[in-house]
Formats: sequence, structure tokens, C-alpha cells
Amino acid sequence: MGVPTLGCTCRVCTSSDQRDQRLRPSVAVEWQTVEEPPRSHRVLIDTGPDFRQQALRFGIRNIDAVFYTHAHADHILGLDDLRPLSFSHRDRKLPLYSDKPTAEVLERVFSYTFSADATYPTRARVELLRLDGPVDVAGVTFTPVPLMHGNLEVTGYRFGNAAYLTDMNIIPDASLALLDGLDAVVLDALRPQPHPTHANLTDAIAWAEKIGARHSWFTHMSHEVMHAETDRELPPSIRLAYDGLRIPIEL
Ligand SMILES: [Zn+2]
Ligand SMILES: [Zn+2]
Ligand SMILES: [Zn+2]
Repeated sequence: MGVPTLGCTCRVCTSSDQRDQRLRPSVAVEWQTVEEPPRSHRVLIDTGPDFRQQALRFGIRNIDAVFYTHAHADHILGLDDLRPLSFSHRDRKLPLYSDKPTAEVLERVFSYTFSADATYPTRARVELLRLDGPVDVAGVTFTPVPLMHGNLEVTGYRFGNAAYLTDMNIIPDASLALLDGLDAVVLDALRPQPHPTHANLTDAIAWAEKIGARHSWFTHMSHEVMHAETDRELPPSIRLAYDGLRIPIEL
């Protein structure tokens, strides 16, 4: 829902701590290739309703590809704001990767972009590509990690020694096997109380311990989580993420 949450005046929604202001969840993975001159690359995971604001705030001016986790509104509704960034992809359309159920929703919600009959002249120069295994983007491999979000299968991603696993309450054993040797993992941790489709704080701590990454970062927190007081109670290898957090990783 984002924090502040509409219609709410609770102590987290009115907190003066910047880390209690949460736009909808997303990450950008950025790297430079070592060729001369070095070229910078960026992949987004999800484009939520706040994507435009996030891109402006964090200087996102070029994108190589977008990977989608699932088709809930908080993860897809900024897709149309890829338009200005997609126009610079002259030689090839901006690739968007997702599983089949997510693609079906994207095609329906953004039919004026994806439909074969779409005639709108300045629609985004994007193409939906089916995710059916690891994908290479400018030398970096993005490996899909299947997760359960209640009874919906969603996609987490591993890249290098890091993984982004949001909107899930179950990590199947076969997916845990893809998470060996991580330096950093980002995990769904919605709130203190149990939830039918998201990990709560207790679940997320258990997943973090099971995965055993050197650092675990919690994301997708609701307004039931106050940053400072929750962060201080977590085990030392686990911290709450916040908007604008930068995590160095090896790709
Ligand atoms: Zn609130
Ligand atoms: Zn979500
Ligand atoms: Zn969701």
C-alpha cells in the first residue's frame, strides 16, 4: 500500500524518520562492464505505481531489461512509465521478462501496448519475453527462483551472489537449492502478525536463517513496522531495507 498508507494517521504513517516512508517495492541492479570505455547497465525488477517517482529520485535514465515477479498492482502499474526510457532503444525493443500468468495480465492491463491490434502511435517500445530459465543481460545471469505467494506462484531472482525474493511466504526446497552461497538476500517481511500470502517478521527471520546469506534485508514492510525500533531487535545479520538503500554485490 505504500507508507504513509492512504487514510491512516498511525505513528508509522506520521513518523518523521525517512526510513518509514516506503514507496512500492522494486530494485534496480546496476553494473559496469570492464570494456574500454566502461559501459553501465541497469536491470529493474518490477515497475510499481511509484516507478516514475523512484526513477526521478534515484537518477534512473537507462534500462537494459525489466524482470517481473508477479502481476499484482504494486509491482506492475508503472509499466507505462517505461515509455520515455524505451524510446532510446532504437535498435531493439526494451525486453520485459515474466512468467506466463504475469504476461497474460500485462497483456490485458496494457492491451494498448501489447495487443496485435494496438494502433496507438507512441506506445512503449517494449517486448514481453517468456521467462523459462536463466536470462543473460550484458554478461550477468538472472536466474528465476520460483516462490509461493499464498497459492500464487511468483518469481524471485538470483543474480551473482545476491537474490531478491519478495511477495512470498514459502520457498520450495528446489528453490532453496538455488540460493547457496549468497552474500545478500532481500526477503519479504510484511508485518509482525501472520499473513496468508506474505512472510511476517518471524517467518522472514526463519527464512533468512535457512538461506544463511551473509546479510539479509527485509522489504515490503507495511505501516505496522516502525523502522528504528524493529531494526534494532533483529539479529545482527538482518536489517530492514529502506527506499534508496544501496547494497554492493558481486555479479
Ligand atoms: Zn498507518
Ligand atoms: Zn507486493
Ligand atoms: Zn503480491
